[in-house]
This record gives sequence, structure tokens and C-alpha cells, in this order.
Amino acid sequence: MTFTTRFAPSPTGPLHLGHAYSALLAHDMARAAGGRFLLRIDDLDQSRARPEWEQQIYDDLAWLGLSWDEKPRRQSDHFDDYETVLDTLRARALTFECQCTRRDIEAAASAPQEGAPLFGPDGRIYPGTCRAKDLSADEATCTRLNMARAAKDLYARFIETGPAFAGDHNLTQRDLTETIGDVVLSRRNMAASYHLSVVLDDAATGVTHVVRGEDLFEATRIHVLLQTLLGLPVPRYHHHSLIRDGAGKRLAKRDDARAIAKFRDEGASPAEIREMVGL
Ligand code: GLU
Repeated sequence: MTFTTRFAPSPTGPLHLGHAYSALLAHDMARAAGGRFLLRIDDLDQSRARPEWEQQIYDDLAWLGLSWDEKPRRQSDHFDDYETVLDTLRARALTFECQCTRRDIEAAASAPQEGAPLFGPDGRIYPGTCRAKDLSADEATCTRLNMARAAKDLYARFIETGPAFAGDHNLTQRDLTETIGDVVLSRRNMAASYHLSVVLDDAATGVTHVVRGEDLFEATRIHVLLQTLLGLPVPRYHHHSLIRDGAGKRLAKRDDARAIAKFRDEGASPAEIREMVGL
């Protein structure tokens, strides 16, 4: 199987040094393995995605010296595909419709069982309010995975090669129900959640190795669970360390000061960017 990896930025702001590191590392790993490097535009959130940011992604990556092997895939071209898969999960009774607001969830979750975690990789662990309600799609604001059903008799594992979590990771039923819970698969104004879309896109494009930041390591259990449920291949994962600013804080989109375009405008070379991120 040809080593295939991807870089999947969201066109919601400028790429910064953290993105440069992620893209360069994934690209270098693909080239070293004689494999493929793909670019994906994660424009799931249509309220924030902008064509000018998408163009800036192409410009920044090309300036860094990166080339990608296929026409970039754009998530907004695949909303129907996500819906089709979601319907298969609905038909298997692995989902439920939910109408809870953030405030409802907070109120219901404010008195948890002693010792139970409040937050998982997807935010506050859903307290289960709508699970047995059988709401119609019209009444609902989102569709959630029924984790207890999904995790029942499920055998799932993945291999991680990144520095912080290297090894073989097994998903246990208890872990999934207690520390992740009923994750959102789609919202009324969004065709699929990040988790569902990323899993379907990676599978559709034959990604064998996911290279991305360590902040997404915890969410990987959700991805592997979905892959296993849907009978999709589980890629290998490599979560790299994060590029931090001088104060040790991880970079975010709003850190325009670290934007690749800014360094470029100030006369930095692609080689200097590589050096700045430790490559
Ligand atoms: N669009 C996602 C992000 O920028 C991609 C994450 C991933 O690589 O799975 O965080």
C-alpha cells in the first residue's frame, strides 16, 4: 500500500508556523517513503470558510516548496456523501436526534456521578437527555452517536507513531462510553461533524498515515471507533508536537503575527521557516 498522507487546513484564517510544521512534516514523510501527499480543504464550517483564505493556503504551501499529488479535495463538495453515510448509521439505530442547547447540557451535567469525567475530547460529555426521546429530524438540532450501542462488542485499535503517545492503543467499551460519550455526528447547519467528515475523507482518498498535531490525539479514539463501525481501514497515526510561541502557548489562527504570509512579506525564506519549526 502506498504511503499516503494529507494536510487538511480549514480556510478560516491565515496559516501560521504550526501549520507550516504540520504540512512540511507530512510532506517530508510522504516523499521519504516514496508516497503521496494530499491537500484537503476542510471547509465544513461554511459560516467561517472564505475563498481568499483557501487561495492563501495554496499560495503559502507552494511558496514553502510543497507540491500535492492530486487536485485538492474540498469538504463542501461532499456534503451529500456525509449525509448518505449518516443515514446508514441511522438505519442501524446507532444514532439519535438531539435538541439540547449548550446550556441544557451544562445544567444536566452539573451534578455528575462522583469521579466521572466532565469533559472528553469533544467537550462536555453528553448527559444523555435526548437519547430515549425518539425526536424527529425536524425537532432536532443535531444528530448524535449512541455510544453505548456503538461501542458494544466493538474491537478497535490503532497504532500511533508520534513521539508523545507511540504504541498500540486499544479502545475499550468503558473508555468510549465514559470518557467520550454520545458525540455529535452532524448539526442542522453543518452536514457532518469534524469527526465524521475527517474519517470519510481520509478513507475516500486512501490515506494510510494521518500526520497532525498532538492536540488531536484524544479525538483519534472517536475516529477509530467510526472507522471500525463503518468498516473502513484504520490508518496509522502520527501526532506531532505543537509549535508554541515564546510564552509556551500553542499557536492559533488568530496569531497573525506568526502567519506564514507575514514572514514571507518580511523577507524570510522557506528554508528559514523550516529552521524556525525545527526541521
Ligand atoms: N481541519 C482540521 C484542522 O485543521 C484537520 C485536522 C486533521 O488533520 O484531522 O484541525
